[in-house]
Amino acid sequence: MPEEHMISAMYRIPVDKVKAVQRAASGKTRCPKCSSLNPANRRYCRACKAKLYPVEEENDRMYVLEKLQGKED
Ligand SMILES: [Zn+2]
Repeated sequence: MPEEHMISAMYRIPVDKVKAVQRAASGKTRCPKCSSLNPANRRYCRACKAKLYPVEEENDRMYVLEKLQGKED
């Protein structure tokens, strides 16, 4: 099982939020359109100008960290 699915199941965190945090932690993200690697904080792909993942990932990161620390919201 991929790590993000294990974390998702263990802590009851939506998988897309876990993936967002993994992208932020890795410092890079793959373009959903052309698969080019981009820095995780970019809004648009530097190769094809497609919109990359939303930048609300800082909120997701805080949400996941709180879940990992056992806090309920
Ligand atoms: Zn692209």
